[in-house]
Amino acid sequence: MKAIRRFTVRTHLPESIAGLSRLATNLRWSWHPETKNLFRDLDPQAWAELNQDPVALLGSFDRQRLAELAADASIVARVQEATADLDEYLTQDRWFQQDYWGPSAGADAVPRPIAYFSPEFGITAVLPQYSGGLGILAGDHLKSASDLGVPVIGVGLLYQSGYFKQSLSRDAWQMETYPVLDPDNLPLTLLKEPDGSAALVTLPLPAGRTLHAQVWRADVGRVPLLLLDSNVPANDDTARSITDRLYGGEGDQRLQQELLLGMGGVRALRLHARLTGTGVPSVYHTNEGHAGFQGIERIEELMNEGLDWETALSSVRASTVFTTHTPVPAGIDRFDRALVEQFFRAGLAPNVPVENVLALGAEDYRGGNPSVHNMAVMGLRLGQRANGVAKLHGAVSREMFKGLWPGFDADEVPISSITNGVHAPTWVSDTVSARAIELFGASAVAGHDWQRVFDVPDEELWEMRRTLRRALIADVRARLRSSWRKRGASEAELAWTDAALDENVMTIGFARRVPTYKRLTLMLRDPARLKRLLTDPEHPVQLVVAGKSHPADEQGKLMIQQMVRFTDDPEVRHRIVFLPNYDIQMASTLMPGCDVWLNNPLRPLEACGTSGMKVAMNGGLNLSVLDGWWDEMYDGENGWAIPTASSAASSEERDDVEAAALYDLLEKELVPRFYGAESSDQAGAAGPSAASTDGIPHQWLAMVKHTMATLGPAMSADRMVQDYVQDLYRPAAEAGRLLDADDYARAREFAAWKTRVRDGFRSVVVEHVDSLGVSEEPQVGDELQVSAYVNLDGLSPKDVSVQAVYGRVTTKPSGAYEEDGLLDTDILELAPAQDLGDGRWQFTGALVIDRSGAFGYSVRVLPQHELLASPAEMALVVNAG
Ligand SMILES: *Cc1c(COP(=O)(O)O)cnc(C)c1O
Repeated sequence: MKAIRRFTVRTHLPESIAGLSRLATNLRWSWHPETKNLFRDLDPQAWAELNQDPVALLGSFDRQRLAELAADASIVARVQEATADLDEYLTQDRWFQQDYWGPSAGADAVPRPIAYFSPEFGITAVLPQYSGGLGILAGDHLKSASDLGVPVIGVGLLYQSGYFKQSLSRDAWQMETYPVLDPDNLPLTLLKEPDGSAALVTLPLPAGRTLHAQVWRADVGRVPLLLLDSNVPANDDTARSITDRLYGGEGDQRLQQELLLGMGGVRALRLHARLTGTGVPSVYHTNEGHAGFQGIERIEELMNEGLDWETALSSVRASTVFTTHTPVPAGIDRFDRALVEQFFRAGLAPNVPVENVLALGAEDYRGGNPSVHNMAVMGLRLGQRANGVAKLHGAVSREMFKGLWPGFDADEVPISSITNGVHAPTWVSDTVSARAIELFGASAVAGHDWQRVFDVPDEELWEMRRTLRRALIADVRARLRSSWRKRGASEAELAWTDAALDENVMTIGFARRVPTYKRLTLMLRDPARLKRLLTDPEHPVQLVVAGKSHPADEQGKLMIQQMVRFTDDPEVRHRIVFLPNYDIQMASTLMPGCDVWLNNPLRPLEACGTSGMKVAMNGGLNLSVLDGWWDEMYDGENGWAIPTASSAASSEERDDVEAAALYDLLEKELVPRFYGAESSDQAGAAGPSAASTDGIPHQWLAMVKHTMATLGPAMSADRMVQDYVQDLYRPAAEAGRLLDADDYARAREFAAWKTRVRDGFRSVVVEHVDSLGVSEEPQVGDELQVSAYVNLDGLSPKDVSVQAVYGRVTTKPSGAYEEDGLLDTDILELAPAQDLGDGRWQFTGALVIDRSGAFGYSVRVLPQHELLASPAEMALVVNAG
């Protein structure tokens, strides 16, 4: 029978165990084993059946069961202990207060929050609001910020169905379902007005419509996460469904999602500040371009107070940090410019000229498309500080976006990099961390100091790796069985799944989203060769594969189908499996259980990648193309690098070359080492369990120990968040505070300066450059007196920096000609030496020739102001010659 009305009855807990309710709603339980185990022990079977969901678990208890629990002294004691621990965690001073902000900032400098915007957040399986790496990263960022005491506040959307659930059809085609989530059954609290009604954010839409959204709050340890939800009765049906799915819908719906995330997000922050009495953020960090409209909303607020455009923009830019995440041009978020215009004409930001909004996202550089609004470009123009997510990705981003800074070499483009990390308490398996804490102590483990792993006997480490592998295999078998049942197999046909995978066999994992560049099917390039590897009678390998394809990506679905069809072959299906519905929960067993993590993207299209870090933290080894994080952290002993074919090769050739290299590495390096080839001659045993004489692959374990001991701090999200605080948040907060003080006095001054300098630069010229002091045969150490005669027109020498840029000279092609380019350059600031009248100045400096070979220099003029974060910031430069 269909229910005609539904409502959610909140569990009312007896007094003695009332703390469980707070423990269930603060998501810290998800990375705090003691709290997690407490929930599990309340009812282990229900815990497993309810997918380890504390809210659902508490909801499943009837009154009698609750009364029993409330009378159980040991449970009551554990609840008290866990709540006391949570209280301490929430209130005590942590890194930010103790070591960072506290001692160095004045007492009056109470840090205001840092708002962190992201379209997705992957925190725990019970709040499925993510599709992949971007969301998991955002979740890890909030968790580490919480652990470090950094006052971050997250802003996102609440999607009714989250991302889709993946299953397979009989013929191996990806099927998508969208189970609807009931926010009342999620660990969320509704933001309410003092009168008890839902607090609402509203945005005007075209045709006189209005978009309303309510705001849910998730507590991620100390970090609040605000999630906007358009599914409210005040909306018409179309508006209600704006937040129905993550990355669903067409341009129109996506644009409205992003308007809600960005502009609505700022309004939600204001609401939250008003209702909770907490401060207004000092920094706005956007995780990828999707939340870019946050900047427009803040400019609107300032222009509404009477500031002019340039002043408002200067203030907003100073306190905005933009992180770019994709080196794949097709992955960049772009809207039809006319659509953006239509929405802003409807009065979204009545004080901001629509042309200015459009100009921020315009691809008005060489090769740009005039009809799109590019969210990454807008992000860069609205953020005074920007970064990529690994060193290589920083370099690729500088190259990719250099069109926005004409006249500058790519390496001067103001996009830095902070390499992503992962939240260790989430991703290190409880088995590993519990033992590590026993052996090395809690503070060493919390500080990612795993040096003492070298003291752990190989026997013990190997046994632990086997335990993790066994847990993975048990999980694989259960998932395989359930997947086959959904594909229509009968129980009788499925006996083989009980023997799928072998706990003595080297286990390789490959799980990630399935965009083309990640090359899910590279391993199938030579199917016969892969089959031989899988079925080798003595030293086989086994593979666990998983990944979702975006529902609109036919190419990705075809790759999944090709993979699944291969795994369906009865000759290999016990050695290679595809598991549907890759998610956090699967990852938490899969990553620790794998001996090897395979990653073979098309270099350099993987911005960072983080799954390999999670594997390494648990003692697995990476086998990866030198892309993203691996490019900077591979050291020759912590795993293997799959060589990259020349990028000049066709994609077919690249795949052939790189797949062959992958098979070679597996056959010649990994398999022998895993099975302990160093002594297998003496052992003479056969079968998968054959290893060195004592059955333990010591050389393999040496690599495992080396990995765990050396990569820990670099891979951790704590390191990442500390880098953000020091390199970006703090400078942004300080710049923002400086500009906004005294009723935006500095912002006005800076804006006026920028306008003047931008105009003035049009007529700046380097008229002449000469150098004295070089003999016929210059030598290293010789000094060169450089003089530049510059016409500054109306600008003052204080407004500019005149530089001699010097270095090695190379000849490089430039169009049909060749020109001398400078490489490995250094910079010498020239000082104003003489006012020559009429706006003309002589600048001089002494340049010391510090290298032999072809040497050269040039002179250029840049704007100079203490509030510029980078000399390239204004994209203004006048080069000599
Ligand atoms: C870590 C993780 C990702 C991101 O992995 P990449 O290496 O960046 O592809 C995606 N999904 C889940 C479930 C993860 O745990």
